[in-house]
Amino acid sequence: MIRPNFDDIFMELAVNLAKRSHCIKKHVGAVLTKETRIISIGYNGPPSGTHNCDEEFPVEGCARDNKGSCTLALHAEQNAILYAVKNNTSVEGSTLYVTLAPCLACARIIFSMGIQRVIYMYSYAEYKGLPFDEGLEFLKKFGVQVDQYEKEIKFEDNLI
Ligand SMILES: [Zn+2]
Ligand SMILES: [Zn+2]
Repeated sequence: MIRPNFDDIFMELAVNLAKRSHCIKKHVGAVLTKETRIISIGYNGPPSGTHNCDEEFPVEGCARDNKGSCTLALHAEQNAILYAVKNNTSVEGSTLYVTLAPCLACARIIFSMGIQRVIYMYSYAEYKGLPFDEGLEFLKKFGVQVDQYEKEIKFEDNLI
């Protein structure tokens, strides 16, 4: 039997969480860990108890901002961080596993919250057609350890 390492376990969980997203465009999952324990999870979507974009706007899609992003959704990283904070769990020194590299707005939050390391699977810049991953650059510049997850985990349609 193959004994999986924690990077694989947490990234597989992030991939599975992404599948729960109601976003009509992009499904992203995030897992927040400290040492080898999970302290929070999240996937992208409007705050819980508000909207389910795919069910409410199946034809026209939800309203978009000028960058083409959903105007209602919190990003997976934001959902994971906010849930931890709401429950009085410190995220200082934690590691974030996320299926899509953090955008700049999330990077600012990740840095401010004292998250120490980010492991991501896909490039946000590639997905958005941007010249470079400004979120990752921001994190690196201010001392957050950033690593791309190297292995292949099967993703479906909306997942890239
Ligand atoms: Zn939406
Ligand atoms: Zn973001």
